[in-house]
Amino acid sequence: MIRFEDVGKSFGPVTVLDGLNFTVAPGEFVTLIGPSGSGKTTILRLVMTLEQVTSGVITVGGEYLSHMERGGRLVRADEKHQREVRKRIGMVFQQFNLFPNMKVMQNLTEAPVRVLGKSRAEAEERARELLDLVGLNDKVDAHPSQLSGGQQQRVAIARALAMQPDVLLLDEVTSALDPELVAGVLALLKDIARTTDITFLCVTHEMGFARDVSDRVMMFDGGKVIEDAAPDKLFSEPDHERTRSFLQAVL
Ligand code: ADP
Repeated sequence: MIRFEDVGKSFGPVTVLDGLNFTVAPGEFVTLIGPSGSGKTTILRLVMTLEQVTSGVITVGGEYLSHMERGGRLVRADEKHQREVRKRIGMVFQQFNLFPNMKVMQNLTEAPVRVLGKSRAEAEERARELLDLVGLNDKVDAHPSQLSGGQQQRVAIARALAMQPDVLLLDEVTSALDPELVAGVLALLKDIARTTDITFLCVTHEMGFARDVSDRVMMFDGGKVIEDAAPDKLFSEPDHERTRSFLQAVL
């Protein structure tokens, strides 16, 4: 579902990703861990086409976002093609990023109507189902500012699901929440991962969650994957000293 082949990403003179290779299979839940600044968020932003690669090949659902021509020239997909690929991807951010001037219902129906071309009635019916799923069917008419952080994040998750994504990108989705709200949001995500065939690429500092829900965990350092293993293996008996010291620092 996601393939990175020899991907490089620089911001000006600063190289963030360097010769990065990995794949994520359909339906897999893959978590990225590693020190702050190691490039994890940049990877999600590349998949979401919020950033453009400097070199290398990225495909999502078999569609190219970039490829290398013979002779080494980088070719990026044009904006129209990127938009088509982006329709299949949902992203949930640390800071929720709900539309502040819209009620919860409109937050959930805006993109399905405008981007997927659904009728308003159909989009509203689906929105109500999703609000049931995330336990907020009494908040249809609330504005985001009237909700707790945990509730806002649930709406953001429902909004991402409303686009029927093949891929869901999770970027430290519990980092901005009060501690007592974290477990509920993680339980919801685990439920969604278990009951749908969505492919997940997740950046999190919640190591218990990563261990519980992931099919694979990739440890990053210096813009490269230094270890890629099943969670029990990576958390219990990592191969690399760098992984061991990182886990000791965060666990
Ligand atoms: P992580 O998610 O692992 O903490 P990030 O992907 O956010 O790491 O950042 C990796 C590196 O890229 C950091 O050094 C960061 O400062 C740099 N970086 C990220 N985005 C930009 C940007 N838009 N401009 C310049 N540097 C950036």
